[in-house]
Amino acid sequence: MGDIHIGEAKENIAKAGFLDVDVDPTLDLFGEIERLKKEKNAIVLAHYYQEPDIQDVADYIGDSLGLAQKAEKTDAEIIVFAGVHFMAETAKILNPHKKVLLPDLKAGCSLADSAPPELFRQFKAKHPNHLVISYINCTADIKALSDIICTSSNAEKIVESIPVDQPIIFAPDKNLGGYLIKKTGRDMVLWNGACMVHEIFSLEKITRLKIRHPNAKIIAHPECEEPILRIADFIGSTTGLLKYSQEDAAMEYIVATETGILHQMQKSSPHKMFIPAPPDNSCACNDCPHMKLNTLEKLYLCMEYELPEITMDEQLRVAARKPIERMLEISAKYGL
Ligand code: SF4
Repeated sequence: MGDIHIGEAKENIAKAGFLDVDVDPTLDLFGEIERLKKEKNAIVLAHYYQEPDIQDVADYIGDSLGLAQKAEKTDAEIIVFAGVHFMAETAKILNPHKKVLLPDLKAGCSLADSAPPELFRQFKAKHPNHLVISYINCTADIKALSDIICTSSNAEKIVESIPVDQPIIFAPDKNLGGYLIKKTGRDMVLWNGACMVHEIFSLEKITRLKIRHPNAKIIAHPECEEPILRIADFIGSTTGLLKYSQEDAAMEYIVATETGILHQMQKSSPHKMFIPAPPDNSCACNDCPHMKLNTLEKLYLCMEYELPEITMDEQLRVAARKPIERMLEISAKYGL
């Protein structure tokens, strides 16, 4: 791998999203990543939706809440975030003096993209006196326009912590918002956003799967649409679904969320069967195209060359930090 090649790749990083250089196919990437972690005092945080190899090399695997908590507490000098952009951004908001790396800057999120800041600012202005609770799957700009952030693990508790006479805007996920309205009885104004992965599960195909596997339990993430949630035996955050699959007595599960979580489910309960819920297209399972942009090669390259790095305007960072801190305080209060 010549220097000129690397130099070009560095120059091209904004366009490509990652360091586009060849990696020697004989290289032991697992060993190299472990070496780089030690040499650079780096921690690899991975979301449950990452590919199995990345999960296996991570120091911590979790959902958005767990990852934010871990990012806040780590002593490592470099945080390598194997997830999507808003997650790495959240880590940077909490750790301004640390280097935060993301293997591919183009690993975005359709849900975060569904709330453009300027439109959201206008929406907020139309609902004065409303407190804004935003799901963590949003950009730093939306966080800065919010009063409290939540994740699917703590959303119910956060909504319930708000005085009943306080009107609330919930953004950006209308499905999670609708689910919370049902659970808490709070009448919230919802932003019309959704996740491309969770809104395309096929009710018909899941129903047919259930006929073939009558003893299987349907477990679903609250980002799924209402008809899917209605037939679910259990609804929970990614961590909640994993925990349920470990503690529940059933032997088969139809899992309505991104397929990456099946790796941990299968690892911790090898005797059980986990079937990915099929989407409304020709595929048999549902991968997030953004999450899956990260690969083991890109992870290795970003650790080796410390690029791409997440940078952020300081004023924006400070404004976006406040609602995240409120979330972490409320979560700590409830022991979440
Ligand atoms: S699964 Fe949905 S919410 Fe999660 S990163 Fe992908 S697009 Fe965003």
